[in-house]
Amino acid sequence: MVSQFTIPATVPGRFGPYGGRYVPETLMVPLLELERSYEVAKSDPEFQARFNDLLKNFAGRPTPLQLASRLTAYLADSGNGPKIYLKREDLLHTGAHKINNAIGQGLLAVQMKKPRVIAETGAGQHGVATATVAAHLGLECTVYMGTEDMARQALNVSRMRMLGAEVIGVESGSRTLKDAINEAMRDWVTNVRTTHYLLGSVLGAHPYPTMVRDFHSCIGREARAQILAAEKRLPTHLFACVGGGSNAMGLFHEFLKDESVKMVGIEAGGRGNELGEHAARLAAAQGFTGARPGVLQGTYTYVLQTDDGQIATTHSVSAGLDYPAIGPEHAWLADQHRAEYSAVTDAAALDAAQLLARTEGIIPALESAHAIAGVIERTPQFTREDLVIINLSGRGDKDMDTYSRSLGEKP
Ligand SMILES: *Cc1c(COP(=O)(O)O)cnc(C)c1O
Repeated sequence: MVSQFTIPATVPGRFGPYGGRYVPETLMVPLLELERSYEVAKSDPEFQARFNDLLKNFAGRPTPLQLASRLTAYLADSGNGPKIYLKREDLLHTGAHKINNAIGQGLLAVQMKKPRVIAETGAGQHGVATATVAAHLGLECTVYMGTEDMARQALNVSRMRMLGAEVIGVESGSRTLKDAINEAMRDWVTNVRTTHYLLGSVLGAHPYPTMVRDFHSCIGREARAQILAAEKRLPTHLFACVGGGSNAMGLFHEFLKDESVKMVGIEAGGRGNELGEHAARLAAAQGFTGARPGVLQGTYTYVLQTDDGQIATTHSVSAGLDYPAIGPEHAWLADQHRAEYSAVTDAAALDAAQLLARTEGIIPALESAHAIAGVIERTPQFTREDLVIINLSGRGDKDMDTYSRSLGEKP
């Protein structure tokens, strides 16, 4: 897909033609304030020290890079399997990578003297991370969540409420993440002076995609040092699931300049190729053709849409991957062929989760299971020299109902 204009990747907030700041004028004031505040924080040793202290002592960084020896052996059995390491973000406080970004933005809210944060959430993980950090820092917290997602993720709703957050169910549209984002935007417009919008992925208007990526870049920095220590060489491949794309960008960013390192983002292929049945935005090569560049929720990127430009409905067994747009930096990396994107089905992700549970003793989040499935499906294309890091973005407790049902269906 060719856009009519090209903007150098060095323009802040732009990734080639993607990204930008497509918002109503009322939101320009808080976005510029946030951008300034983030610029100050980046070079403020006190902010960085506080951020790193919370990552270490509150969230539990650094996370291990674990050799998945039985998964490696299992795949080697069927042919050319690679050597696989897992970046264990599932071991972080609240059970997923999302706490990294929540801590960073929570500290920015304090720095901007805003006593209240709001957030949107799909799987509930970002809502839990936000409610957790808000409680820890003494901030008021409101979380918007589609009622479809509330039903799928009841445990996370209880966790947020126990942490003192107000959870507001959103009944509009498909009652999932994009609808929750619309409601959160509406709240923000009304309450900008007191409220910071703690966005949960590398989405939205500038500075969010860059800032959220930077808060997660500890994932890749640690993984790079850990793999060099363990194997004395760089990985050949990085795999991560891509909802909005924050855990993937967190892993990829530190390796972008290492041309030998292939990066693969795995999207939700859902139940099939037709629009409405999946959330694959960059997997056109596999026949998922519903996505075109467009503007959604403040940023210019690939968006699943109808011929008329209406936002398409999406489906994934995993709430965290169920979103019609993808972070603008991923759109750029795909256009540049610096990263590759493909999709795996609901069924493949469920199988991968079970395989990881039984080979490694780790029940992954359904989102992360997509990344595992992506590696499994490519097994024939690997050689024994290949060294793969999979970002295990979260743990699977929240998905146990779905797993139980799928196990029940095939004993
Ligand atoms: C939210 C979530 C994701 C998807 O979000 P990204 O921004 O694409 O990382 C992936 N894994 C887990 C465990 C999540 O909670």
